[in-house]
Amino acid sequence: MPELPEVETIVRALDASISGLTVSSVVVHRKDVIHGHPAPLSRCLRRQSITRVYRRAKRILIAFDPPIELIIHLGMTGRLDIVSPNTSIEKHTHLRIVFADDNIELRFRDPRRFGGVWLLPANGQYNGPRLGPLGPEPLPLKPADFYDLLQRNRQIKALLLDQSAIAGIGNIYCDEALHATGIHPATISNTLDKKLAGKLLRNIKRILNKAIEFRGSTLSDYRRPDGSSGQYQQQHKVYNREDKPCRICGATIQRWQVAGRSSYLCPACQTMR
Ligand SMILES: [Zn+2]
Repeated sequence: MPELPEVETIVRALDASISGLTVSSVVVHRKDVIHGHPAPLSRCLRRQSITRVYRRAKRILIAFDPPIELIIHLGMTGRLDIVSPNTSIEKHTHLRIVFADDNIELRFRDPRRFGGVWLLPANGQYNGPRLGPLGPEPLPLKPADFYDLLQRNRQIKALLLDQSAIAGIGNIYCDEALHATGIHPATISNTLDKKLAGKLLRNIKRILNKAIEFRGSTLSDYRRPDGSSGQYQQQHKVYNREDKPCRICGATIQRWQVAGRSSYLCPACQTMR
C-alpha cells in the first residue's frame, strides 16, 4: 500500500502536470468506486480547472475551480497514470479524466478496489464517512506533541500505524523508523522517555524525507504517474529483508507478527523496553 512518501511523489508529479488544466470529459467505467457527491462525476467536473494537487495523509486531493475537491485513496493496488488519450485502456481502469488543453488524460486503475474516489465540496473537511478521522501529519509534528500522543498503553507499532493517531505512516516506514531508533515494535508506547521519543520522531522524519527524495518504495504495485518505479526499496534496512543480515550489526533480520501485521526487525539492534 502506498504510504506518505509514495503519495507525496504522486502528488508532486500530478501537480506539475495537471494543475491549471481544464477537464473536457470524464469517463466512469465503474460507478461503485465513486463516492460522495450524488451528481454524476462527469457533470460536476466538466469544464472545471484544476487549481492544485496536494496530499493529506495517504490521500491525494485534486482541487478545482469553482471549489470542489476530488479525493483519491489508492488502497492496496490503486494507480494514477498520466497518459496520452490514445493509449490502450488497461484492465481495471475505473475512471478517466480527459483534459482539453494538453492532449493528456488521468486514469485511475485499481484491480483490488480497496481504494476509491470521493467528490466533496471544498470546505476543508476531508474526513468523510468512508475516509475516517486523521491524526496529525508526521513531517511538521513537534516533539512535545509526538510525546503526548505516545502516552497510551499501546504497542508502538500499532500506534504508529493508527491513522487517527498519526497519519501517513504504514508498515514499511514504521519498521524502518523503529529499527533506526533501536525500538522493538511490540514496545508499549508510553514506556518511551522524552529523549527516545524525540529520536524516534527525528528518524521518522528523516526516513520519510529520504524516501520522498528516492520517489518512494516500489515493492509490488506502486508506480509514479509516468509508470516508473520508486527507488527507496534499495535503501531499506529491515523491511522485506527477512533472513538477511542487518545492515547495521550483521544479525539476521526476523519477521514477527506485531499488531496483526508482519514486522521486520533486528533482534540485536531493537530491544523491548
Ligand atoms: Zn542490527
